Amino acid sequence: MDCKSNNPEFEIFCNIATEFASCMNDYLYVYDVVNDTYFITEGAMSRFALKSNVFTNVNETLRAVVHADDFDMLSADLAEVVSGKKDTHNLQYRWIGVDGSAIWINCQGRALRDTSNGTLLMIGCINEIGKRQKADNISGLLSETSLREHLVTLFPSIENAMFMRIGIDDFKMINERHGSDYGNFVLRSVADCIKKSINKQQYVYRLLSDEFMVLDLAGSDYSQMNQLYHRIRSAVDDVVAAEQYKAIYTISAGLVSLKDIGNDFPDSAEALKLSEFALTEAKNRGKNQMYFYKPDDYTTFLRTRYIRSCIRQSISENYAGFDLHFQPIIMSTNESLYAAETLLRYKTPSGENISPFELIPILEETGLIIPVGKWILRNSLLMCKKCREVYPDFVISINFSYIQIMKSPLYEDILEALESVGLPPSSLIVELTESGHLENSAAVQNVWKKLRKLGVNIALDDFGTGYSNLINIGNLKPNLVKVDRSFTLKALNNDYERAIMLHVIRMVHSIGLNLVVEGIETQEELIKITAMNPDFIQGYYYSKPCPAQDFSEKYLT
Ligand code: C2E
Ligand code: MG
Ligand code: MG
Repeated sequence: MDCKSNNPEFEIFCNIATEFASCMNDYLYVYDVVNDTYFITEGAMSRFALKSNVFTNVNETLRAVVHADDFDMLSADLAEVVSGKKDTHNLQYRWIGVDGSAIWINCQGRALRDTSNGTLLMIGCINEIGKRQKADNISGLLSETSLREHLVTLFPSIENAMFMRIGIDDFKMINERHGSDYGNFVLRSVADCIKKSINKQQYVYRLLSDEFMVLDLAGSDYSQMNQLYHRIRSAVDDVVAAEQYKAIYTISAGLVSLKDIGNDFPDSAEALKLSEFALTEAKNRGKNQMYFYKPDDYTTFLRTRYIRSCIRQSISENYAGFDLHFQPIIMSTNESLYAAETLLRYKTPSGENISPFELIPILEETGLIIPVGKWILRNSLLMCKKCREVYPDFVISINFSYIQIMKSPLYEDILEALESVGLPPSSLIVELTESGHLENSAAVQNVWKKLRKLGVNIALDDFGTGYSNLINIGNLKPNLVKVDRSFTLKALNNDYERAIMLHVIRMVHSIGLNLVVEGIETQEELIKITAMNPDFIQGYYYSKPCPAQDFSEKYLT
């Protein structure tokens, strides 16, 4: 709408405002107090919840666009200017955006009065104070806002571009140890290193915090970008050396090629998001390196993220979807039931079964193995108690992850669970997997010693795999060694491995330990293995891991 009015001055100001606003990002307004008419330059229409850029009944119309909490303050301030109590208006408050969100603005204006001091017009400017700055004075670079604006001019016609997101490793520590002034110096130095390493068709921007983006429009390939990364890295090394190693820091980078996004019409937001993933991946892989984006890695990342959120939801819904299966451990001399191993099962809220091989690492990396582990412990002991009504010496064997041992008070948790369920320590076998992580840890040795002293049985799981071997028997002093199915299979199929298995069993017995052979599926396998005199057998031959109810029906009735 234009600003035709019976007030020529209003019209003149509106026209001048329109001209000026065409070359600025702010919004200019003219308020005709006498005719209760308000004009704001047209750009405001696409940003704020305004039906028109010229309106009458100003107070009530503004009420609809100003945040409800701020309206009274604005109305009171305008009233003071209009009444002549003050000449200028300068307020920070919120307008409502076209999408309903609150947008912080700074509104400034001044009154134009007639000769008898009556207010005729108010003119002024509204600018968005929440809008991100276009440049960064610390690094001397353009900011993410400018990068986004640059990308808007390139997409969707652009076919070839590289996005290299660079981050300073452990930047937070530099700030903490040396103060934010030195932190700013580091940011500036890294920015300078990048600037002097790039060519004319490569653009650098400072992103949030310690991150930078190099946008390559030179058509560079992976090897050229790798060379660029190494040039920047050695320039950074030079700065660190010139500062006499006051702070030692490195840089990581994530590289995404527009061609690798795998979408017919990749947009810039997608490229920025993937560059964020790529940088995180470089840091996760050990920092001080560049990671090249690969779609398969991203698929894995999304899958892990999905499972993680399913797990969180399930935990908050009282472990819905988690279940325990039980697999018997049978005495080889008389085929009687000695124990059962608890094996975790999980179904997502949408009904997908997740295998323990996928699930357990996610539980470990998120630390969620700690609450889930407690749930496993308690429910396994409850099952053990039930089994003991029929088999008074029944033992339950539970897998514990190294994360539980390192990061939770495992000894106290076990003690408390045994007490609350009312079971003796001898009714529990603690199975330790991935023992390679643990052999040298004093904290672990300490927990082990206390558990052994308490009378809990310790089992070394996965024996014969990379993680678990003879050295662990010496370090962890278990009561029980569990031979992994992969080792069992070798012993069943090859004389040489069979001889090794035989010697392992003899050695284990000679130092007073017991041994479980896992993974026996057939009677033929059972006969071959039993000839070697193991103490216990576990495998599909006797039973697959089964739900508590099936296990009860099979063994307790
Ligand atoms: P594991 O502790 O060595 O458990 C034995 C695995 O071998 C189980 O796989 C079991 O189903 C499988 N198995 C047993 N007998 C046979 C057989 O005769 N043939 C074949 N092909 N497989 C057999 P599952 O249940 O998939 O568990 C895999 C691994 O996941 C476990 O290996 C354990 O390391 C881990 N895991 C399972 N439940 C838990 C848990 O509650 N906590 C922790 N920390 N880890 C668990
Ligand atoms: Mg196990
Ligand atoms: Mg095992």
